[in-house]
Amino acid sequence: MKAMVAEPPKRNSVKLVEIPKPLPKQGQVLLKTLSVGIDGTDREINEGIYGSPPSGSRYLVLGHEALARVQEVGDQVENFSEGDVVVPTVRRPCKENCLNCRTGISDFCLTGNYFEHGIYKLHGFASEYAVSDADFLIRIPPELGNLAVLLEPLSIVEKAVTQSFKIQERMMWKPKRAFVVGAGPLGLLATMILRLKGLEVYAAATREKESLKAKIVRNVGGTYVNVRETPIKTLEEKFDIVIEATGRVEAALEALSLLGPNSVMCFLGVYREKRACEEFGKVLTNMVLGNRLMFGSVSSNKSHFEMGIKDMLEIKRRYKDALNRLITRKLHLSDFEQAFRSEREDVKTIIHFK
Ligand SMILES: [Zn+2]
Repeated sequence: MKAMVAEPPKRNSVKLVEIPKPLPKQGQVLLKTLSVGIDGTDREINEGIYGSPPSGSRYLVLGHEALARVQEVGDQVENFSEGDVVVPTVRRPCKENCLNCRTGISDFCLTGNYFEHGIYKLHGFASEYAVSDADFLIRIPPELGNLAVLLEPLSIVEKAVTQSFKIQERMMWKPKRAFVVGAGPLGLLATMILRLKGLEVYAAATREKESLKAKIVRNVGGTYVNVRETPIKTLEEKFDIVIEATGRVEAALEALSLLGPNSVMCFLGVYREKRACEEFGKVLTNMVLGNRLMFGSVSSNKSHFEMGIKDMLEIKRRYKDALNRLITRKLHLSDFEQAFRSEREDVKTIIHFK
């Protein structure tokens, strides 16, 4: 069968290869992949700065954002049967099966020895067939159709927002205004989820006001800020919740100025490590004097995928085709190389498997 693989830490190693079709073991299902989404992590794996093949393998099958159909079930699989449409979660429990891993929250793994499909020591789903443990599959209602390929990135946002609200239970908190830094798939999905929560949402990026990203923000009732015209540090407004989804140190530091009293800021990027902040003392004092809180969030668990399904249905109901508009490129597997070249107006690229 055909598979899209990379060989980290080799640079630009993504390619299509023929590999043997996997067999489902006990508790596993064989999946027929329908489509995979490509994101920054896939591009970083292709750049050789991230990712690790399974032990004993030279290559890593990519694809952690997947939509698939159950083709065959292994022994002792009772909840799924042939033909079910599913999205697999990404992270699997660590070898030690730590406290958090064994209670279903491996996104908070304590040992760091977890596995991640398509990223870290487990093959992904960018192949004609793939296997997954049945316990980590999310069943997709038919009305979501192909849009469910967005469920994995949405689960990242669901975790970020849920954690923000949970952390803020440290006091009485009724947030009114949110600011999202970045309008890639995560930023736009965060804008939608915060709008569903009834917040006034600003989303900022470098595209002009007539760009697709700006239109999607307005489409869901948000306010778009073009930071080339209106730099973040010139904004006077303060916000209760800030989500950083650019992965850029400069943007992240600038956004600290948006934090109002008792607010929370969530970081979702992987940042370049060697950037100093000249005013770090001021940042720290500001955190203290305003009871402000910053935290990072990575990965997600089944509960966030399940929240994502409910919210996708609600986004469809309220904002019609807002989710469809995020999918800007649909490629066939044979054109996979295009997915690793960025295009100016691209939001989310999907690769179809036929
Ligand atoms: Zn663990």
